[in-house]
Amino acid sequence: MLNLLDNIKDTLLLGAGPSNVAPSVSQALAKKTLGHLDPYLFEINDGIMEGLRQLMGTKNHFTIPLSGTGSIGMEASFVSVTEPGDKVLIIENGFFATRMIEVASRVGADVTTLHFPWGKPYDLDEVKQTIQNGGFKVVAAVYAETSTGIKNPVDVIGGMLKDSDTIFLVDAVTALGGVPLEVDEWGIDILYSCSQKCLACPPGLSPFTMSDHALEAVKNRKSKIPNWYLDVELLQKYYEGTPRVYHHTVPSNMFYALYQGIFNILEEGKENAYKRHRAAHEALMAGLDPMGWKPLVEAPENRLPQLNTMLVPEGVDEASLRKALLTEYTIEVGGGLGELAGKTIRIGLMGYNANVEVVDRLLAAMKEIL
Ligand SMILES: *Cc1c(COP(=O)(O)O)cnc(C)c1O
Repeated sequence: MLNLLDNIKDTLLLGAGPSNVAPSVSQALAKKTLGHLDPYLFEINDGIMEGLRQLMGTKNHFTIPLSGTGSIGMEASFVSVTEPGDKVLIIENGFFATRMIEVASRVGADVTTLHFPWGKPYDLDEVKQTIQNGGFKVVAAVYAETSTGIKNPVDVIGGMLKDSDTIFLVDAVTALGGVPLEVDEWGIDILYSCSQKCLACPPGLSPFTMSDHALEAVKNRKSKIPNWYLDVELLQKYYEGTPRVYHHTVPSNMFYALYQGIFNILEEGKENAYKRHRAAHEALMAGLDPMGWKPLVEAPENRLPQLNTMLVPEGVDEASLRKALLTEYTIEVGGGLGELAGKTIRIGLMGYNANVEVVDRLLAAMKEIL
């Protein structure tokens, strides 16, 4: 009988995620499945929570892997702290911030959008003005905007919100493990990420943290959290309760994978991991520039090393290029998203793939095709 799994290709995943899984993570996945209430699984779980705190730069006790992809972190964030009519500001300069608008609107939030052109940095004076005049319960921003490759200054926005009751909510889906992150120092109250980008794990978990300030806001809700699966007070009883209380059957093998992914970064040293991402990015820029490819994000200090959005040079058909890379070289790169479709390609150098050898392989393939 034909087994489809025998024909999975060894594709180099240089798109916007998932990225290639580290071999040690694949081995971790294959270990024996434990029950969701096994004491040893709780030890592993505690290890994940502590490792995530270190990666995120936080002392928040409620720092857990949510069962779901990055978007579930977004859902959990808004569903926890916004009730119908609550004023929410979303600072938007890309596709994933527009998804935040959609998610916040569905829970009935009164959403104000502060829009900036895609690929361009925030106008910080305008952000400050809007925050000062707004009376927002929640301000939300995307740190690493994967649709454009821009790194947004969430540290500065956090500074603007210090000493206020406003909850600062940050998307760090592509950021975690690839660029510095200091949740406590930057004044972030809620932050979520995913397993499949810079942590070099398969998709399926969403690292998530909430400050005491944000948990207080949950306690002070007028209505119940409308979503049972993402009710953080129920999740607390599983992740931190004595005794631990069953909520849902957590995916233990994915827990092993995440544990190993975090372990690898902490063993390397997170600063070293950031340096490795930066070196790969610089090698990519140096190789693509003479071929006529320029990054969408102008200022080098605003660019994400792990996600490179490149403007397609005149005369290049980006769809055929991506197709040739995939079919002839088994290399996947991403197309443009939203308004950037057809005008850009996105090259991810995330996690296990953030190294110069990978960049050289991509550049060689692109040179041959073009
Ligand atoms: C990938 C991504 C998401 C969505 O994550 P999924 O794992 O696809 O659900 C959200 N925000 C940003 C910035 C992302 O890059």
